Amino acid sequence: MNRYHGDFFLNQLLTGHGAFLIHQHKYFGETDQCRCGLDSGTISHYLFGCSDFHHIRKNFFPADFHQLGLLDLMGNPSGQRGLKLMVQHLL
Ligand SMILES: [Zn+2]
Repeated sequence: MNRYHGDFFLNQLLTGHGAFLIHQHKYFGETDQCRCGLDSGTISHYLFGCSDFHHIRKNFFPADFHQLGLLDLMGNPSGQRGLKLMVQHLL
């Protein structure tokens, strides 16, 4: 059992279900294109590529976040805060 299990926002990242457009597209037929227009709304797009979240990555993620995985970011207190903000923004 990991300590992120009970977190509503982090669970959505861990399961890939919920706010993400790629999930909404699969189950509800909505567009899978991200608002930024650069890519489809996958978790990796939001974490690493989405221009809408540039400020969150810059302010909360460690400088080497491109080399980190999702669990590494969740294990980093500031990274975890940034991840929650991203999911809140997508809801
Ligand atoms: Zn985007």
